[in-house]
Amino acid sequence: MSDMKQASFALQSARSVVFFTGAGISAESGIPTFRDKLTGLWTTYDPQRLETAEAFRANAALVWGWYLWRRHQTTQAQPNAAHLVPSRLAATGRQVSVVTQNIDDLHERAGSAGVVHLHGSLAQPKCFACHRPADLSEEQLVVHGDGQEVEPPRCRRCNGKLRPAVVWFKEDLPMAPWKAAMHMVKTCQVLISVGTSGIVTPAADIPEIALAAGATVIHVNLADVSLGNANELMLIGRASEVLPALLKAAFPTA
Ligand code: NAD
Repeated sequence: MSDMKQASFALQSARSVVFFTGAGISAESGIPTFRDKLTGLWTTYDPQRLETAEAFRANAALVWGWYLWRRHQTTQAQPNAAHLVPSRLAATGRQVSVVTQNIDDLHERAGSAGVVHLHGSLAQPKCFACHRPADLSEEQLVVHGDGQEVEPPRCRRCNGKLRPAVVWFKEDLPMAPWKAAMHMVKTCQVLISVGTSGIVTPAADIPEIALAAGATVIHVNLADVSLGNANELMLIGRASEVLPALLKAAFPTA
């Protein structure tokens, strides 16, 4: 039996399903993954080098400008057919949760509620010094051209520089989303892991945690990212095509 057929049977009998998503699900909405070539000012940078506290200390304007540009890209992007599948599946009566590594808001804009953001969100800045959340004015969100260095605004409480409230390399994940995700992952019958390379830990361990708890794991990716476990199914292709096809195979009228 094909992996698609087995995956559709697994979905039909599941009461609780978790979508675990990475940058690949947003790639077809025009938001680059770490593997895509960057444009403008950023062509000479490795994104992984811009996403650290060291980079912010060395050149806060460069890092703030990079995140302003990413936030702008996200506001221009629209959810694609893959982002719509969790809420369509929930409409069949299953309990559906979304745990994402993405810092965009495309799941929410596609109608998913209670999305767990393991790596924070572009939409919410915080103070680099005192960590208090902060709001930005429209003027502070303006992006000129394809890339720019922008001096970050200051915290109203302590005058520290503002940074995005996203998890940078070498930083710990926020505890509350991680705990919420662990509960969902350990109690679901099916985990659908979409568009993630499985490299950035601890989030990358989530498919293995689900397998250890007895779930079936369905991977959706352009490349084979399966781990060699008997309870894994691998659906190779674009998330925006594979996920709607899976939903249709399991629930033809959904
Ligand atoms: P990654 O860039 O390491 O891997 C992307 C994965 O998606 C790859 O395995 C690739 O084969 C797959 N992929 C690409 N296009 C696809 C498509 N159309 N359909 C299905 N699969 C596709 O991304 P990751 O694993 O999410 O890495 C983790 C880090 O990347 C996270 O920390 C996340 O915050 C960050 N990130 C997020 C965004 C975003 O918020 N949209 C964008 C870039 C990076």
